[in-house]
Amino acid sequence: MKAIAKMKEGYKHFQEHYFQKHRDNFEKFVKHGQSPRTLLISCSDSRVDPTLILGSEPGEVFAVRNVGNLVPPHENDPTHYHGVSSALEYGVKVLNVENIMIMGHAHCGAIQAAIDTEHDPEKLGTEFVHHWVDIAHEAFRNPCCCKESINSGKRIPQEIEQASIVNSMNNLMTYKFVADRVASKELKIYGLHFDLETGELTAYDRKTGEFGPL
Ligand SMILES: [Zn+2]
Repeated sequence: MKAIAKMKEGYKHFQEHYFQKHRDNFEKFVKHGQSPRTLLISCSDSRVDPTLILGSEPGEVFAVRNVGNLVPPHENDPTHYHGVSSALEYGVKVLNVENIMIMGHAHCGAIQAAIDTEHDPEKLGTEFVHHWVDIAHEAFRNPCCCKESINSGKRIPQEIEQASIVNSMNNLMTYKFVADRVASKELKIYGLHFDLETGELTAYDRKTGEFGPL
């Protein structure tokens, strides 16, 4: 089935089944607005659907998806177009979310792009991607997540994926409104990595500096 025809079928099914069954919920959303408890930053990758993996329903997750689930560090120039920063500001200051989750994944093309452009920004011939994934380069020096990469001098994608999640968690703390709420224990930050081959999610453990079972 062609992509658009399949989507039309999906939409028809949604209207006839899901929406009818959950009509009350949608009426509440219209009447009272949204009050998600979690802001989730995940990759644009079509194979990784965080709400499917986490079993989340509409209204539960305020979502940001971008290439490589990256959080840029805070910048003092509000005249730029700050998509992630705006979502963070709205999620934290307006919606008062209690959790921020960053979900990365195995076989991430964005992280591979960061690896490929580490020494040659022009290598991929992209206009935007190589500059965007530059955010992840700081992660390459993470001694906990990148042991094998640092020791061998080769870039191990899974290590870099995990280190980049930690790097984005650190970048979150450069936003004062995030750091203040973490300090007052009103907000928690989590890092997750999804393995496409096993379906397993692992979580960052601050005590060990490594990813382990949930
Ligand atoms: Zn990805």
